[in-house]
Amino acid sequence: MNYSAPSLSVEPPVSLSVEPPSPVTSADNEVPNIFDPESLTIRIAYKCNIRCKFCYQGADLDNKTALDEDRMLDMVREGREAGFVRLGISGGEAFLYAKSMAKIIKLAKRIGYESVSIVSNGFWGKSRQSTRNVLNLLTDAGFAPPEDMLSMSAGEYHQEWIELSNARNIIDAYYKQFGLPFTIDFEYSKDKEHLVAEFNEYLASQGIAEDTYKIRPRTIIAKLGRGKEIEEQTMETKPLEAFGICPSIGRFVVQPEGYVVPCCGFNRYIEGLSLGSIYDHSVSEIITNASTNLVNRYLTHVPLRDMHKELSKHFDLPSDYSVNCELCEVIFAKKEHVEHLRKVAGEMLNDGVPIPEA
Ligand code: SF4
Ligand code: SF4
Repeated sequence: MNYSAPSLSVEPPVSLSVEPPSPVTSADNEVPNIFDPESLTIRIAYKCNIRCKFCYQGADLDNKTALDEDRMLDMVREGREAGFVRLGISGGEAFLYAKSMAKIIKLAKRIGYESVSIVSNGFWGKSRQSTRNVLNLLTDAGFAPPEDMLSMSAGEYHQEWIELSNARNIIDAYYKQFGLPFTIDFEYSKDKEHLVAEFNEYLASQGIAEDTYKIRPRTIIAKLGRGKEIEEQTMETKPLEAFGICPSIGRFVVQPEGYVVPCCGFNRYIEGLSLGSIYDHSVSEIITNASTNLVNRYLTHVPLRDMHKELSKHFDLPSDYSVNCELCEVIFAKKEHVEHLRKVAGEMLNDGVPIPEA
């Protein structure tokens, strides 16, 4: 299946997946489906109107890489037919594409997605009026909490760019409109827990009641993307033995270039995780490919530490890591690493599941 890709400001990544996706029906596919996702996430663009220091995607205002609106709408339809019931929308900053987003939500609700989740930096909460306008736009599109969810990131690195009063305006308006607490994603680095207390104190001083919002703390601040430039230590490093099989595989995340990754995909630089492009394949073709994709099979069968140990025998790799994704990037970002893993696949993937042909 082929679709016209929009013009992109950067070349789409070269997929390091071993097999190109091919349409295989369940009848002739003996390989167990190791990738059976319920949740489809669309990352609309890498464009963002702020520039958080820790941003894994390195998003900024100049980045023009964005998904084509028509393809996104088709993908939402194909995703529902393939069995997805939850839809996620993010960016970059998704609300820079508010009209496309409203069309996506409207369609998703009409064709039976059970929930839609959106994450934002909350820039649109600058005034009470702009906040109401955005919440009305969502409501008109069919967005209805608690099934559907909107959250705002407002932690350590976002606060350098977005006023705390935006969070105040959004919490207040969201509670009035939906009668439910608003979710704040609050990231903070090592030894900065006090920022949460200060945030709560600020909201209390503005008359925001505790039960009108909830904080989702996020303490994983990895050295990925722009985060690599942060000089101070953001997390404790862990011994290699601590890195097992990634527990986050099984999602279907479409990156702004159009390629699909099997996890949060926050790190856009792990191109080796690509399962295929939505401009070349349908959603169901990519799901099928995921079952036999070598990279995906490694991720679901072999602890990250074992892949790292194997590659260390032949390549010079760093040794200090704090989170799985840092290790994953080192393992899969280079084509020669994936080629080497392909060569030793028989030794490492010995669980009886057919190994894709080299
Ligand atoms: S972390 Fe989110 S809000 Fe911050 S620059 Fe990246 S995409 Fe934008
Ligand atoms: S470790 Fe790899 S597969 Fe797992 S969430 Fe991180 S980037 Fe994705």
